[in-house]
Amino acid sequence: MLCRKGSEFSKGTKNKLARESAYHCSNPVCRKLIYHDGIFGHIIGASKSGPRGDPSMDPDELKDESNGLYLCFSCEKTVDAQPEIYPVKMLQNWKRLNKEQMSELRKKLLKDSKMSETIKAQKKEIKQQANTIQDQMNAIKEQDKTFQKLQASNCRLGKQNKENERRADKAEKTIQELEERLAKQEEDLEEVRGILKTAEEYIQTITKKFQEKLFPIPTNSTKGWFFF
Ligand SMILES: [Zn+2]
Repeated sequence: MLCRKGSEFSKGTKNKLARESAYHCSNPVCRKLIYHDGIFGHIIGASKSGPRGDPSMDPDELKDESNGLYLCFSCEKTVDAQPEIYPVKMLQNWKRLNKEQMSELRKKLLKDSKMSETIKAQKKEIKQQANTIQDQMNAIKEQDKTFQKLQASNCRLGKQNKENERRADKAEKTIQELEERLAKQEEDLEEVRGILKTAEEYIQTITKKFQEKLFPIPTNSTKGWFFF
């Protein structure tokens, strides 16, 4: 369609219109994804004698964002070819629907983004908890190593204690044997003393008898003893 001079959409407005429908055809029945080859149609026709034309509109009103609609090539041709089926009111409804859907989409994206942030925060928290648990596990492992070392040390001490006890038992037994031997020697010594005493008594008896034989004591006097 031929546009009136000055009613063409600016580049900025075209970008807004494309974003308004999220780069999809604004016809709700079509909704074709169009990145680069979309058509920026006028809701109120830009041509005075063309479809949906309004001679009272000036070019500034016609090129306003509110009068633009992003369509695929096929839908734009269909809409312009059958203005009685696709009147201004219907195209305005399509635009309104676009805006509502975009608003819903933005809300959903925002919500998803917040959820994503929450999930990220939860993941971070879980990671921190996992790190804390890992640190605790490491500390427990270190304590376990220390405990095992202590156990090994206790085991060595226990063996040493048993060895010491065994040596002490042996020493006690040796002392006991020595005491027994000493007691036996004392008994033997006592016996020898007895023998010596008997021998000494015997010698004394023999000596006395011998003296009596050599130097008999007079029966009626003790003068003989004083002679010596
Ligand atoms: Zn279309």
